[in-house]
Amino acid sequence: MPLNGEPYHTNKDNKNDITLDRLAAVGQIAAGIAHEVRNPLTTVKGFLHLLKEEQPHSYLDIAVEELENALLTMQNLLNVSKPDLDDEGLSDINLSTEIESILYLFQNQIYHVSIEKQLQDTHATVYGKRNQLKKALFNLIKNAFEAMPESGTITVKHYMENGKLLVSIQDTGVGIPEDKLGILGTPFFTSKEAGTGMGLTQVYSTIYEHNGKITVASEVGLGTNFTIEFPVREKKDVGVLELNLPYVENHTFSDFYGHNKESFMELLRAQGKTLFEHIKGVKHIDEQYVLNSTHQIVTLLNEADEFGLVMHAKEHGKTWAKLELELIVKLEWFQTVRKCYWDFLFNYYNNIDISKKEFFEIERNINFNLDTYVTHFSSSFSEYKSFLIEAQNELIDDLIVPVIPLSDTMAILPIIGMVDTKRAKHIQLKVLERIYQQHISYIIIDLSGVSYMDTAVLNHLFNIINGIRIQGCEAVLTGVRPEITNTIVELGIDLHAKVSTKATLQQAIQDYNKLHLRNQ
Ligand code: ADP
Ligand code: MG
Repeated sequence: MPLNGEPYHTNKDNKNDITLDRLAAVGQIAAGIAHEVRNPLTTVKGFLHLLKEEQPHSYLDIAVEELENALLTMQNLLNVSKPDLDDEGLSDINLSTEIESILYLFQNQIYHVSIEKQLQDTHATVYGKRNQLKKALFNLIKNAFEAMPESGTITVKHYMENGKLLVSIQDTGVGIPEDKLGILGTPFFTSKEAGTGMGLTQVYSTIYEHNGKITVASEVGLGTNFTIEFPVREKKDVGVLELNLPYVENHTFSDFYGHNKESFMELLRAQGKTLFEHIKGVKHIDEQYVLNSTHQIVTLLNEADEFGLVMHAKEHGKTWAKLELELIVKLEWFQTVRKCYWDFLFNYYNNIDISKKEFFEIERNINFNLDTYVTHFSSSFSEYKSFLIEAQNELIDDLIVPVIPLSDTMAILPIIGMVDTKRAKHIQLKVLERIYQQHISYIIIDLSGVSYMDTAVLNHLFNIINGIRIQGCEAVLTGVRPEITNTIVELGIDLHAKVSTKATLQQAIQDYNKLHLRNQ
């Protein structure tokens, strides 16, 4: 049954425009209040800090913390309800491309949710504010994921109809009760424990600002379908920014950039909002770091220092691999850098006469250098990422197979938990390696943490013991539980011929010490 079919509750009627208007008005009022309330609250926070310096008190810490929460809420409200405060420029945006990259951000969740993409008319673009539109799509997709905590399917469609561009995001989640459909988009409306009720407010005001429409169809227990609709952009200008920057006669581009560096940073800040959103709360990185490293890259580009760029890209790739961020976030940043850089080049060459040939040469050199940078960055990123994953796996290996040395030549291998064939093989490999590396001549395998072993696994255990003996090491088994002894007896394995058994780990250690001391 299609979600936009009849049986579903929907707000798809002529009230839609009114709803958007009303919500936009609510947003404006809320934003107005937020603005007014924020200032006195900030003052209060300042005084609380002063008080704390005079006489610290735990209540003051709580007060400051709560106040900070309130200020954050105000800021969120301002951000989403008054997007026009944002001075983000307008450009042609291909929503299908944006959808692809947003879906990457949910990669860690696609194990339990399957995603179906039906992206048609992918050449169509809308004209508007890229970061806002991306955020709106992100918020809708995020809600769809959150509506399906266990499993389900998200279907994302992108298509044209009657000269409009439509994007629909449909989930098979919990659904929205009919009486709530009308209040969607109202600031602070949330049904989630940790929800903010800001996501849809942002979506609705963005769509309002872009002269779009939004409709919802939903049925409790079956799922929800949000459809947004935009006017399609007829292709016109190329979107180069006219920046009116001061130009000094005979300055090279490098000089020009140096002279206007602050404007460049501002441009990056305005156009790279997505990245800055993503790195919020990520450890070891902040806006300043990103801008500084971008400045380094631009400087190398200006000097056409190919080697410097490659070296920088390699180091930089490594640094980013350590952060908890997807590669796509950074690749999008490079696109932003490229765009801003070209905006700057345009503004510089506006002052100078150059031939077509010269222009194409410049284009080729710069894009070649930038591409080289991105290629080296990406491969260094991936290389280091897999190195990190490998290192992590090794650490996990060590945790699964802990060979604990008690002296130079003696070690204990406690085996804990379920052992299946795969794990047994793994233990075998690791133990033999460890015995060889650490010259262990006596090893106690303690099985007191294992309650069950099937016959296949027991066979592996004997392979391990055989291997140990071949390496000239003596093996002692301790803590064999009765259940396991039974299996051994049933299998008719002659255990004692290969390995001695001791009742407990303690006893095995004592015996070893006696033997060892006697031999000394
Ligand atoms: P939040 O996600 O923080 O709760 P939103 O503004 O994004 O805030 O969403 C508001 C409310 O709308 C949600 O709490 C939920 O009740 C409802 N909602 C939005 N999208 C969906 C969806 N896809 N399925 C079910 N309910 C949804
Ligand atoms: Mg949300």
